[in-house]
Amino acid sequence: MEKKNIIIGGAWPYGNSDIHLGHIAGLISGDVLARYFRANGHEVVFVSGTDCHGTPITERAKKEKKSPKEIAEYYDQRDKQALEKFHFSYDLYTNTDTDFHKKEVMKMFEKMYENGYIYEKIEPQAYCEKCSKFLSDREIQITCPKCGTQTKAEQCDGCQYVPTIQDMEGGICLECGSKTILKDNKNLYLALSKFQKEIEEHTAKSNQLWRLNAKNETNKYLKQGLVDRAVTRDLDWGVDIPVKGYENKKMYVWIEAVLGYITATQKWCEDKGKDWEKFWKEENNNEIYMVHGKDNIVFHSIIFNALLLAMKDNYHLVDNIVSSEYLNVNDEKISKSKGNGIPAIELVENYHADSLRFHLINNGPEKKDSNFTIESFIATNNGELLNKFGNLVNRTLKFKGIEEICVGKQDENVTQKIEQTYQRVGEAIEHLEFKEASDIAMELVEFANKYYDEKQPWVQRKENIEEFNNTIYNCTVIIANLSNIFEPFMPEVCSKIRQYLKIEKNTWEMIEITENIVLEDIEPLFGRIEK
Ligand SMILES: [Zn+2]
Ligand SMILES: [Zn+2]
Repeated sequence: MEKKNIIIGGAWPYGNSDIHLGHIAGLISGDVLARYFRANGHEVVFVSGTDCHGTPITERAKKEKKSPKEIAEYYDQRDKQALEKFHFSYDLYTNTDTDFHKKEVMKMFEKMYENGYIYEKIEPQAYCEKCSKFLSDREIQITCPKCGTQTKAEQCDGCQYVPTIQDMEGGICLECGSKTILKDNKNLYLALSKFQKEIEEHTAKSNQLWRLNAKNETNKYLKQGLVDRAVTRDLDWGVDIPVKGYENKKMYVWIEAVLGYITATQKWCEDKGKDWEKFWKEENNNEIYMVHGKDNIVFHSIIFNALLLAMKDNYHLVDNIVSSEYLNVNDEKISKSKGNGIPAIELVENYHADSLRFHLINNGPEKKDSNFTIESFIATNNGELLNKFGNLVNRTLKFKGIEEICVGKQDENVTQKIEQTYQRVGEAIEHLEFKEASDIAMELVEFANKYYDEKQPWVQRKENIEEFNNTIYNCTVIIANLSNIFEPFMPEVCSKIRQYLKIEKNTWEMIEITENIVLEDIEPLFGRIEK
């Protein structure tokens, strides 16, 4: 395989609450890709961070009588910890409140402004006379003109309709309850409409592997025609605007957070003494993956690409949009008001991270919404992982009275099956079919168990010690290779196997065992979860 420079960007969790299992289910694909590509020798930068700015954070701060910084810092630490416990292998997990991020984003903003893609426009905006301030769309409640739902004006909770400025007139200021009026306000806008053609062409050229939701959502916006968007807002928490006359405004989070994929890469490269442009600029044989939930698609497929184009600086555009559907919990949509979004950190403190990872990949919201229940998770842990994978390792490496794996004769069928599995799992991952990849990987476990049962080593041991050694040897070769093949899905378990079998590191190549291995301290890979 030709070596590439690969960027994988995981969506930035919002620093106003704990990330829940739905977030993990959406983001885990990024970690699978990162681990797989690294094992294949590609140069990978996998980045993300906490989105610290914006009104959800200032609102929460106000409610808790804290500063926005305190709120963002608290959740930044919590989210970082949760992701670490789930073994996310981010090269850098940062946040948008670092001086580095702010400084670099301001430079990029200036470039777009100098290139004429950010321009000033005076337009009516919702205003509360009692609070004497301009309101953002989430500070207003309106009745949705499409479906009648009472909703915050950023997007209808009932039908996803995005309200226009006219819809905001006569809304309700959520702070004081007064009726809103429209009043002229000066803001800077991104000339999104100028990139219509380029983004259409790029989408048509690169969307082969995108999921249906990404294709549909992106094409819907392109068909409607791209509309210029305000990039500044009346807020005192966020990134400054490097343009005269805008000292009292801040950058909209949608512009600075997506640029965080670049600033995080820059920071990581700076610390490692590497050239960040190798990953982001054209003609470096690069590939860019953006991983997120379906509510975030156009920010990555349209807006981020428009920003990259607006800098006119030879940026490589986003190639692959990896957008998952939603994870429901106990057949209910996760929502803050219901409080059913189980904080990811609590689950991973109680259950095996690898079991959760495997379950979310194997039953996750890859192509349609999926449902998480504790019962279905227990079924995966006890039925698939413990009874099949764990049992195979246990009954091979802890065969009673065996202290050493002796090199035996490699079975041609076993070799073939292993080689096929590498190829098929790799193809599935490259096609962004993660569930299928995990199913194919499990087939090798099932193959090994069947092989074991057919050979009956417990009988061979008494009747033919050479055949017994060959059976245990071949099963061990499979287990060694499972530690490579499952690494993208279950890194903790795989590292345990490597330790048992004295394998130095994971790769995406067939492992052969050519020396006897002394077995020490073999422990079960998975524990049974009682209901
Ligand atoms: Zn509606
Ligand atoms: Zn008000």
